[in-house]
Parts: sequence; structure tokens; C-alpha cells
Amino acid sequence: MPFYSKNQLLPKLRELNIHLDKKRGQCYLVDENIANFIIKEVEIDEDKDFILEIGSGLGTLSDSLIKRGKKVYLIDNDEKITKFLYNHLKLYYKVDLINYSSEQIDFEQFSDVKGIIINGDAIKIPFPVVTKIVGNIPYQISAPLIFKIIDSWNINKLIKCILMVQDDFANRLIAKVNSKNYSRISAAVGLYLNIKKIKIVPSSCFFPRPHVTSVIIELTAKNSLMTDSPENLYRKDYLSFLRGVFPFKNKSLRNAISFFLKNNEDAANQFKYFNEIIKNPEKFTFINRKLRRFSPQQLFNLMLYGSTGKNEILQEFELDGS
Ligand code: SAH
Repeated sequence: MPFYSKNQLLPKLRELNIHLDKKRGQCYLVDENIANFIIKEVEIDEDKDFILEIGSGLGTLSDSLIKRGKKVYLIDNDEKITKFLYNHLKLYYKVDLINYSSEQIDFEQFSDVKGIIINGDAIKIPFPVVTKIVGNIPYQISAPLIFKIIDSWNINKLIKCILMVQDDFANRLIAKVNSKNYSRISAAVGLYLNIKKIKIVPSSCFFPRPHVTSVIIELTAKNSLMTDSPENLYRKDYLSFLRGVFPFKNKSLRNAISFFLKNNEDAANQFKYFNEIIKNPEKFTFINRKLRRFSPQQLFNLMLYGSTGKNEILQEFELDGS
């Protein structure tokens, strides 16, 4: 099946009357070595791997995935492109094409097909249960996609994700506490995922060329995602706590929490034990430290205190004397 080098891609796009638009994240991989490298890193097990590809485009990666995996789900939100991919893949495999609008998708109904192409927004489509997620992803959905992956990580099934992202974005994912790049997403990823940068990819490997350097990253689960851990059980609460306080990351923890809970009745109820800390700055001296100085684990422990009131969770803050 075709890999499109730059010289092959241009006439193909003309033939299909497709105009690639960088603003829609349409930067296509035109370097075959990089495409092969990504496929190798996925370490496909043909008996076991259910694979989800985000932003499948004309199928540069999809072809190898469908050939080697047990079943693949391919998502792209460009209708012309998904139609082309369907018409191409159906010559070789049993595949289906569906248009996603807002209903739930019953993935069971596709039990006897090898590939399901879904035309729609990867952020909105409910993810099927898979063992691997792969993608040369549109960079503008990078952050919501990572949150969605954390939120829906199925520890019993999902083994790893191999994603091409912007290098600057990868640096935010792995940013250290209190550094310039430390942000909501670093605090979320830092608690739940191991991130490995595996290969820097220059912009010359894409058409059209993006203005940025890219990197292939691997995501795997930390132990905190194990079924019975508090970190796993309170996953959604931690993510919503981060969403609430991180806009105020340069403020003190006390102010960040106050701003979050003010005018948000649901959050104020959910995290009602924070009141005690906020009202007792002499006892809980650490609350005057800036929010961005708290590690993901400390933020998680705080969140848990805020919603359960269990005091021992806060002991480590008292011990380090801050
Ligand atoms: N995998 C291909 C294409 C990568 S470009 C390759 O490596 O060559 C990213 C693709 O994501 C584009 O085809 C674009 O149409 C698609 N895309 C952009 N935004 C999307 C979204 N919100 N949901 C799903 N696909 C999206």
C-alpha cells in the first residue's frame, strides 16, 4: 500500500481535490523512515492489539496498523479524507465508515470488521476500548487529547500510546515543579503517566512544513493508575481540581483555592474541607506558598484532604517546615 513521499503526495492531493490546511493540523508525514519508526515503536501484537489512530489522514500510518493489528479504529475529522481512506482500505480489508455526530457508538456492532473509520472530532468521540493509541496528531488538540487519554485510561487494557507532538508541548508535559513550563497538564501527567521522548523529528519530514520541531513520545501508566489506588479512584476529582486552581498558579495556594471555590457552588461543596485550611493560616503555614511550588503528588494529597477532610494526608507539608 502507498506511502506518499512529498513528490507522490502533491499529485494525489490534486487528484482528490484536497487542500491541506495547517490550521486544521494537516501536516502529513512524508518521511518513510519516520513512519516505519513509529510503527516499530507500537510493537504490534497481531493477536491482541486493538489500535486507535488519531488523525489518520490519507493512511500513512493506518495502512501498517491495519495490516498488523487485530483491529483498528481510525479517526479523522475531514470528510473528504476519511472517504478516501475508506475507499482505499476497503479494497484490501473488511472496513466500515461511520460519521460521528453526537450519539454513543456501539462498537460491538463492528465485531467482524478489521477497521472502523470514524469521521468526526477525536475530542468528542467516545473512545473504544483499545490496547494502543497512535497518532501524528493535530497539534491544536494535543492538550485536550492528553486529558482525554488520562481520563479514559483503562488500566486493564491500554498498554501505551505513541504520539507525535510539538516538542514545546512535550516539554510542558514533563516540566518540573516550579519551572516556567509547569502547568495544569504537567501536574496531571506527572501523577499518572510516564512520558518518554523517543525521537526528535525535524519539520522537513512533513508536508506542509510546520513551523515547529516535533517529537515522538511514548506514554505508559504509572502505578497510580492501578485499580485500587486513591489516585485512580479520585482521578476525575483531581483533574477537576487542577482545572479549577491552575489558572492561579502564580498565586498562593490559599488564594488559588479561594478563587476556585468562590462563585462555584458545586466545587465549594465537593471540596468543603478546604475551608478549614483557608481559615487557619497559622496552623497550615504551607498555604502561603505559591501553587506552582506544589508537586503533583502534593496537589493530589491536598485535593483529597479538601474532599475527605482526612488530616494525615497533610502531614508531609507540616514536616517540611514550609
Ligand atoms: N496521520 C497522517 C495525518 C496527520 S495530520 C500522517 O501522518 O500523515 C493530522 C490529521 O488530523 C489531519 O488529517 C486532520 O484532518 C486531522 N484532524 C484535525 N483535527 C482533528 C480532530 N479534532 N479530530 C480528528 N482528526 C483531526
